[in-house]
Amino acid sequence: MKILVVNSGSSSIKYCLFDMTDQSLLAKGLVERIGIKGSCINHFPTGKDATKRVMAIPDHRKGIELVIDALLNSKSGVIDDISKITAVGHRVVHGGEKYSGSVLLNDDVINTLNEFIELAPLHNPPNILGIKVCQELLPDTPQVGVFDTAFHQSIPKEAFLYGLPYSYYEQYRIRRYGFHGTSHQYVAQRAAEILGKDIKELKIITCHIGNGSSITAVKEGKSVDTSLGFGTISGIIMGTRCGDVDPAIIPYLMEKENLSFKEINDILYRKSGFIGLSEGISSDMRDLEEQVQAGNIKAKRTLDVLFYGLKKYIGAYTAAMNGLDVLVFTAGIGENDPRLRKEVCQSLDFFGINIDDSKNDGLRGKEAIISTENSRVTVLVIPTYEELMIARDTVEICNNLK
Ligand code: AMP
Repeated sequence: MKILVVNSGSSSIKYCLFDMTDQSLLAKGLVERIGIKGSCINHFPTGKDATKRVMAIPDHRKGIELVIDALLNSKSGVIDDISKITAVGHRVVHGGEKYSGSVLLNDDVINTLNEFIELAPLHNPPNILGIKVCQELLPDTPQVGVFDTAFHQSIPKEAFLYGLPYSYYEQYRIRRYGFHGTSHQYVAQRAAEILGKDIKELKIITCHIGNGSSITAVKEGKSVDTSLGFGTISGIIMGTRCGDVDPAIIPYLMEKENLSFKEINDILYRKSGFIGLSEGISSDMRDLEEQVQAGNIKAKRTLDVLFYGLKKYIGAYTAAMNGLDVLVFTAGIGENDPRLRKEVCQSLDFFGINIDDSKNDGLRGKEAIISTENSRVTVLVIPTYEELMIARDTVEICNNLK
């Protein structure tokens, strides 16, 4: 069974082709700069040389056509016929309250996804576009939607409601949705597998820390709270997003600086977090770490805020679950930044978290247990693999069709 996984963004399409008989990756790639100058496709077939084609890619249709060409190419391709693709799994950011699991995409589902555009205006439209183009180009192939929000639909009401008039929840569905669900679910399941334990017996905190970040409390295999909420902005500070701020600041700033809705949104989503706190040094963690080593106080204060925020969430979610067995670090920063892991864990020995420096130092992008033998909480680094999770869900939905 070969599954194509598509993550269609506003100007890019990421793809992976898996052979699900052994869950191996046959090829992956990226179509970039769709509709803008310098568009190209980078294709990485497993065991063969990578290829790059630079050409005009005016729209997503052309982009998906190029993906199919790359997969079928006589030299760099990995399948000889399009019919070898059993199904396509699509990453969809927002599934609202309707989808707590993955679904076969039909017209009804797509209509519902269109209704969720107002909840995820930047993400759902290109996701839907990717689905429509794949339906057109692969009309006989089942298409499955896998939602970033689905894993978090198990969050109980006391954790997903905000303290606003209840009518806003009823009328506009204003509540905590949470994101990165596929990643949190994957690393939580993988942690249980690595430890040889039943996930239903574990209290896990998963820290997905990348350009976008979220922390999730996973109890008995289910998400019970998460730091991103209605939008993709709350929780710990991120590359350019502010994380938790007192809502009183927003109208205050709008008045003081005479800001429009669009301008304040831009500040909160694109000019805050690492880039804002560091006064423009960078939104990229590597640059900030480099500057910290060079003694830059702006970079240091930025990362101090990040580390403190992370500690607070770990503490809060330990309380929410009344305990903690496993702490997982994942995504670009979580997987690759030993200093962050050390700084955050070092002062949490009260919770039974003890890091083994010899296992943590220098560890980048690899699965490993980094806690000491006698640490009450097991701390792991697990590279996220959302694409594989999407492929697995797609297989499951297709098997249920039979
Ligand atoms: P992601 O959004 O998951 O791709 O993560 C992107 C973030 O990971 C960026 O802030 C990168 O700077 C960060 N990152 C990647 N490699 C490293 C590294 N070796 N050390 C620290 N941060 C890293």
